[in-house]
Amino acid sequence: MKMRDWVKLEQQYFMDTGHRRLGVTIVRGAGAKVWDEMGREYLDFIAGWAACSLGHSHPVILNALKEQAERLILASNDVYTIPQIELAELLASVSGLDKVFLCNSGAEANEGAVKLARKYGKRHLNGAYGVISTFRAFHGRTLAMVAATGKPEHQAPFTPLPEGFSHVPYDDAEALRAAVSDKTCAVLLEPIQGEGGVHVPGDRYLKDVRQLCDERGLLLILDEVQTGCGRTGTLWGYEQSGIKPDIMTLGKGLGGGVPIASILVRDRAACFGPGDHGSTFGGNALCCAVATAVFRHILEKDLSGNAAAVGSYFNERLLALQEKWTIVKAVRGRGLLLAVELSGPIALQVVKACRALGLLINPLPPQTIRFMPPLIIGREDVDQAVAILDAALEQVVSLS
Ligand SMILES: *Cc1c(COP(=O)(O)O)cnc(C)c1O
Repeated sequence: MKMRDWVKLEQQYFMDTGHRRLGVTIVRGAGAKVWDEMGREYLDFIAGWAACSLGHSHPVILNALKEQAERLILASNDVYTIPQIELAELLASVSGLDKVFLCNSGAEANEGAVKLARKYGKRHLNGAYGVISTFRAFHGRTLAMVAATGKPEHQAPFTPLPEGFSHVPYDDAEALRAAVSDKTCAVLLEPIQGEGGVHVPGDRYLKDVRQLCDERGLLLILDEVQTGCGRTGTLWGYEQSGIKPDIMTLGKGLGGGVPIASILVRDRAACFGPGDHGSTFGGNALCCAVATAVFRHILEKDLSGNAAAVGSYFNERLLALQEKWTIVKAVRGRGLLLAVELSGPIALQVVKACRALGLLINPLPPQTIRFMPPLIIGREDVDQAVAILDAALEQVVSLS
């Protein structure tokens, strides 16, 4: 059979939004491995941008998909459907939050969280509507989330943006305190900034932010789209700081690869009423059944514990690479959300060298690379990835 030129067809028909920086066409996956159309194998440490928490085509996901698809894929939110109620019960019971809304993407979950905070501001904070987020943050690509995201280059082409968003430096509770006004209704933060370069704040930061929010009556919205569902070594990123948010958003790893996201909220802030918010596909039976199966599996197999143990081993191995190669400037992250910062704008070059050697990793150009492997990996996968990264660094050093 004649192979079609997928790269050429993509350029002809697809809007030019994906960089396709790795330049391969992936046709199949199993566990932590994927294969391209030539049959070449790669260790996948991008894992659908941290969404494929159980790896590719896990039997738990396949069984839930098949069973639920045979029964019911989608009804409407004019009726009750059991999978969404079961998922809401599960999420509420393990998060310590009270009420759940289900949607389809991280950006959509954050949009809903901001709507909720604004309604709360109208009711309880004299009409305050302002949301303070942080520079270098990432909250998604819708217009309001582009406004919330602290990156000028994501904003400039799309002005005017929705009003009411302001930014302060991350990991600086005093700057946040100074930015709060009587127009502020909420603070929106990632427990660890993911897309912005995997920045872990100091131990006191989230505690100080929580305290400030309590003093001023503000809602604390934690965007756990990337850090949630076991990724950082605990079920939720915030657990490690001993606080609780008022609103938490989930996405990515929640569905193990199927599109589903969620807003979780404490009772006192759960002020949506009938007609305030909705989604045609949000809470569909198919994705909810998969998410419930994925989540139960994460709990049963303690995959957050695995992320902590294997992540700490991975971290040590990356620190050893930092000892060996002066172009490795810093190692950051927690659990299985890790990054290496390089000493120059060579992230893309290193990523491409790794790809040629059989490892897929995520460039955050100019000089950071990020690792988000499935939560199911073991030390042998880390050893293989580190050996490839080591060889790639050697190539890049010898070329420079
Ligand atoms: C990926 C991400 C989003 C956006 O999620 P989408 O599903 O792409 O809309 C929002 N917040 C954080 C922290 C993310 O990592």
